[in-house]
Amino acid sequence: MKSDMQTIGIVGAGQMGSGIALVCAIAGLDVIVTDLDEHALKRCIEGIAANLDRMISKGKTMPAEAAAALERIKGSTLLTDLADRDFVIEAATENIQIKEGILKKLDAIVRPNAIIATNTSSVSVTKLGAMLDDPSRLTGMHFFNPVPSMALVEVIRGIQTSDATFDATVDLAKRIGKTAICVRNSPGFVVNRILIPMINEAIFVLHEGHASAEEIDEGMKLGANHPIGPLALADLIGLDTTLAIMNVLYRDFNDPKYRPAPLLKEMVDAGYLGRKSGQGFYPYP
Ligand code: NAD
Repeated sequence: MKSDMQTIGIVGAGQMGSGIALVCAIAGLDVIVTDLDEHALKRCIEGIAANLDRMISKGKTMPAEAAAALERIKGSTLLTDLADRDFVIEAATENIQIKEGILKKLDAIVRPNAIIATNTSSVSVTKLGAMLDDPSRLTGMHFFNPVPSMALVEVIRGIQTSDATFDATVDLAKRIGKTAICVRNSPGFVVNRILIPMINEAIFVLHEGHASAEEIDEGMKLGANHPIGPLALADLIGLDTTLAIMNVLYRDFNDPKYRPAPLLKEMVDAGYLGRKSGQGFYPYP
């Protein structure tokens, strides 16, 4: 599987699925992206084309290479179109029921020696593996947003993940130009266990009225040397995804230190999901 991996399937054509499709296609892999929502697929392909145009104008790729990469990406609303793929990455909405449903179906659709990875930010890879008849073929492949510019992939080993599956996932991460860190399954893995509670704390600080969103972000940029403030980062990640991760940490560690900030819940209830909805801690007209 290691050397002859050529075809990738992606489930979920949102922010992450689009970015993963782009980096795979640039690396020469043939990609099919699936989504339930035809509009999401359309936005995905248009977004990838716009991204490639930006890369051309910055001199990061040549027009012919960009056109070839775009040609390698197809969209579909049918999960069954992923039957012949070497490697399938689930990047659908951060909701355990949705992910369990998709993984069960993929297990039946995707050929037996293909690998299935989940880009979940927080759900247990071991638990998701239990949905498969052959859980040894599931890994966590946790990308970061925006995928084309973030160098890291956390490769997560559930207790059932085989060495062959794990090694092939690390190999794919390297092939698409990413640096992999190897992580044992645990709530939030490594990066989000540290990062998301920090964002949650920033939301508490805002809600308690100690500083404005701009001041909190400026403080963390200049005082902690972060490239982006925690509230702007929450908007980028998506407030629904941020809340989903806090809920998993809170529940799985059973520890009140992970209590989601009430303002975060309220913003998600209002549909203020950050950049993707046009409104988060900042407006995105
Ligand atoms: P998103 O909301 O932008 O996109 C999710 C997509 O999944 C939507 O287009 C939706 O239509 C689709 N979807 C939902 N149910 C589906 C189904 N049953 N079959 C096919 N498609 C379905 O979300 P996102 O930010 O791209 O996040 C996707 C995954 O990546 C989540 O698990 C998230 O935790 C993870 N992740 C997100 C980030 C981030 O910063 N946003 C970073 C790392 C990992």
